[in-house]
Amino acid sequence: MLKTILLLLLLSSIFLIETKVGRRETPAPTIIRITRTIVQRELEPELPLRVFPIHEDDYVALSSPYGERDPGEIGGYGDDFHDGLDAYGTWRARILSIDNGLVITHYPPPDEYWRGHPVLGGYIEILHQDGSKSRYGHLGETFVHEGTYVHRGQLIGRQGGTGKCATDHLHLELEIDGRLVNPLRWVRPPR
Ligand SMILES: [Zn+2]
Repeated sequence: MLKTILLLLLLSSIFLIETKVGRRETPAPTIIRITRTIVQRELEPELPLRVFPIHEDDYVALSSPYGERDPGEIGGYGDDFHDGLDAYGTWRARILSIDNGLVITHYPPPDEYWRGHPVLGGYIEILHQDGSKSRYGHLGETFVHEGTYVHRGQLIGRQGGTGKCATDHLHLELEIDGRLVNPLRWVRPPR
């Protein structure tokens, strides 16, 4: 609620600045349209907009939330901020694209010849139509490449424990308007 009020204040100050510099006649600038979208999402924070990235038949549980965490926690690796959401499923659980998009980064899972992404091992990054990006780490298998178009819910890989990872799980990151956000605001676990 406080966030919503702050955003509304931000909106009105943008409006005031626009009025002051006398650009009120020009069509709504991009920043106002983007801010309006953010405000709409703030007003509907519980709305699940995308597919959960672990297939519902394979999903088991969430393991580590986005945000501050205890550096001693398993999987913490000394970082006090967790950039994503950790969840796990059954062995080699099916990993799905949360929305339509284009694969822009792909690190196949490490093997004897190839080291993969230094932290996230087998890794896929997808650019979505609204400019947001989703990232999937620690994958044991990947089925797409850079330049592959994927649709919402498409199978893109399988869960693994590659990269810096104590136990098999999926690390999901979501970036919206250039900022990392808590993925749980946009995806909901199946149960
Ligand atoms: Zn993680």
